[in-house]
Amino acid sequence: MALAKGYDVSDYQSSIPQDATFVIIKASEGAKTRQSGYKAKLATARSRGLVVGHYHFLHAEQDVAGEIANFVAAVGDVPVAELLVLDFEPYNQGVSASRATTVKNAWLAAVKKRFPNHKVGIYTNTDWWHQTDDNAGDFLWIADYAKPAGSPGIQAAWRIHQYTDKPLDTNVYNGSIADMRAWVGSATAPKPTAPSGGSAWSGLKLVPRSEWGARAYLTPGGATKYSAARRGVKVHYLGTPYSFGDHDGCAAYVRRLQASHMDGNGWSDIGYSFIVCEHGYVHEGRGLARRNSANGTTTLNEQHYAVCALLGSSGSTTPTPEQLHGLRDAIEYCQARGPAGGEIRGHRDGYSTDCPGGPLYAWVQAGAPRPNAGSVQGDEFDMANVDEVVAKVTDAVEQRLLRTPMLDTTFPLGEEPKYAPMGREGTRGAILAQLAAEAARDGVAALAEEFKAFVEQGPKPTPVTIDAPALVAAMKADPEFMQLLAKANADETHKRMES
Ligand SMILES: [Zn+2]
Ligand SMILES: [Zn+2]
Repeated sequence: MALAKGYDVSDYQSSIPQDATFVIIKASEGAKTRQSGYKAKLATARSRGLVVGHYHFLHAEQDVAGEIANFVAAVGDVPVAELLVLDFEPYNQGVSASRATTVKNAWLAAVKKRFPNHKVGIYTNTDWWHQTDDNAGDFLWIADYAKPAGSPGIQAAWRIHQYTDKPLDTNVYNGSIADMRAWVGSATAPKPTAPSGGSAWSGLKLVPRSEWGARAYLTPGGATKYSAARRGVKVHYLGTPYSFGDHDGCAAYVRRLQASHMDGNGWSDIGYSFIVCEHGYVHEGRGLARRNSANGTTTLNEQHYAVCALLGSSGSTTPTPEQLHGLRDAIEYCQARGPAGGEIRGHRDGYSTDCPGGPLYAWVQAGAPRPNAGSVQGDEFDMANVDEVVAKVTDAVEQRLLRTPMLDTTFPLGEEPKYAPMGREGTRGAILAQLAAEAARDGVAALAEEFKAFVEQGPKPTPVTIDAPALVAAMKADPEFMQLLAKANADETHKRMES
């Protein structure tokens, strides 16, 4: 069995070697220093589907609280299947071995507390491993260039061996890449336990198909693998009445959803890649490996993963904070392991549908932020005024849409290659959806920003100051607008958009 080969990189390296199966990227150093190339390398590594780690170079002589804060801020939100590492080589730092050990252990404890479901370990060399205690956190990454790759010759259990720094810092994992994925991935599937109100957020809560009682998918259609890298993730809602209930009922609901897709729609499986309940659990649908069938067309299904919230078009229509966390977890999981690019869109982007509904679409347009971002106290987020803000954003998008001359034009079937496959009505709908998306991206981006700021303010938001009534009044005073509005109201397609 070939041991998995990987590299560790910092700003000294401009790229990640092509034969890497894993990469551990330097994020920060000491209490203040950051790596300017960290984010770009991280995006590359994730898009290539590598196993990823993040590391911090310790300065044992510096303030440990500052070192912890620097690293936590540098890495931000991290998918649970990624490693977190302390680089422990306190040479010439002017502190004793015992003091350096105390600082190391404080850092490990604090980072583990912040990321309880992640694997948090240390990197050190044989020399320092013999001078410190036996606490490596969750795993030991040992450097010894005098020993052959995969035989570092130490008593302690080790996971990664850095066996040379020529020409690059090169490592092997103590097993195959499949073993390594299983090892890092084991942190992604903690046994589901009932979420407790007010507790700190604890990461992706994945419910595999076997746990929610999925039927086997039909072949060959259900076995279609993804043939290209995905651009990102599209967010959906149910589009039917739905009422939040106890988590006990969620697995049965997902089973019914699968049955309706297979027996009702004649599909080979449930349509979505992942399904997120109001309690924040991420149910595995087609998962990472297989193409979804929820985005509207085969092309759209190829381009994005499909993540659906158990959220209604009536009844329960505002996502819970747990659900937003779960959606974000699912999105990050797709990005990290799919792999998928950074696009986060709604079903309606590029396809004629109201999905994922106003509240969820506003969240998508705000960049899909975690509730109360920047704090682990995510459950405290108060959604009370979100509907109001969403209505204002939606309103503003609508107003801009109605002012566009595009509405005044007819599009014969087949004349617009970009949208032609959808036919005339679909064409009109697709253009409206496109305009809404564009309006939100530029003219109304400021409103989306306000919404984002509002979400990030946390438990006690101050009132936002968007003057929607004034905007509407100004529109109503505009004869050109009123004429367009009358046309729009008579337009079947537009009515369908609003329903
Ligand atoms: Zn949808
Ligand atoms: Zn649930």
